[in-house]
Amino acid sequence: MTRRILVFREISADQLDSLRADFEVDYLPHVTDADDPAFMDALSRAHGLVGASLKITPALLDQAPQLEAIASISVGYDNYPVDELTRRGILLCNTPDVLTETTADTGFLLIMSTARRAIELAELIKQGKWTESIGKSHFGTDVHGKTLGMVGMGRIGAAIARRGALGFGMKILYAKASPKPALDAELGAQHRELDQLLEEADIVCVTVPLTEETEKLIGAAEFARMKAGAIFVNVARGKVVDEAAMIAALKDGTLHAAGLDVFEKEPLPADSPLPHMANVVALPHIGSATHETRTAMAQRAIDNIRLALSGQRPLSPVNADDLNDG
Ligand code: NAP
Repeated sequence: MTRRILVFREISADQLDSLRADFEVDYLPHVTDADDPAFMDALSRAHGLVGASLKITPALLDQAPQLEAIASISVGYDNYPVDELTRRGILLCNTPDVLTETTADTGFLLIMSTARRAIELAELIKQGKWTESIGKSHFGTDVHGKTLGMVGMGRIGAAIARRGALGFGMKILYAKASPKPALDAELGAQHRELDQLLEEADIVCVTVPLTEETEKLIGAAEFARMKAGAIFVNVARGKVVDEAAMIAALKDGTLHAAGLDVFEKEPLPADSPLPHMANVVALPHIGSATHETRTAMAQRAIDNIRLALSGQRPLSPVNADDLNDG
């Protein structure tokens, strides 16, 4: 029996052809809502799913009686009910490693562009308002030599910290991660409790996954602890931050500036004040969005689904060990 795969994110023509050589493929790259009738129809027949950015709920899984495996084109898997998948015997896979360096580049892009006010000042030129030498009111703050506080120090956190320490001579602190003696030795990084890190860092950068424990990890109390003039960067997930508290802190000056790739609701609602705030650099969730990396992520997901549907261990399973225990 030919197995059926539902692909719900854009992949390359070559990748699609390679899947079609071995599977029946339903290709719905532009689905934004799981209630879409074409998506529901394909889901009802799918043995495998390949995609990203859709919330997969237990109610949706009820509509997928044949489903054996999901290969997410993402490293974060907060869109999936992992325990429920395991209970139903469905294997979940993600795409770690292949996006680490690109996402770290995005993190540093946000650090640089907030500190040096790059987007705000580039806008002056676009609007024809560069009429005299830039003065104090448009100065930014240095990045080199400052203290970078990483909240989370996994693959992406370490890659950002490496850029900071080795490229910009920054002092690295990290919290909400187990001690990392190898990184301490390589980068001179130092482990801290979160409160201590917030008090010491010039730039705070969040890279923890979204889980029950990390939801709203950074709220009003945490912003209040940060140094005057501190910059906050989030390349993890919007819900790790209390967005209303962040907006209030940005407005009243408790927080100097924010660089954000992720938001509580995505796409950002039209009434969000964030895009209109001069001290905010907001990006449309582009952490891993380069040609090279998105192609590599899709390929990892394709390799994962092939292995999973042929009964072999995928390259990057999330719940394989729990499934095997069950
Ligand atoms: P990772 O290697 O698993 O690192 C996660 C870090 O967070 C680790 O240091 C971990 O601590 C720490 N952590 C703190 N609380 C945790 C908890 N409750 N559960 C798990 N870890 C916890 O992950 P990564 O590859 O660096 O990715 C991190 C996150 O970045 C992803 O989950 C995703 O949400 C986000 N991301 C965003 C984009 C984007 O487009 N903006 C792109 C890629 C990833 P230990 O060191 O003690 O394990």
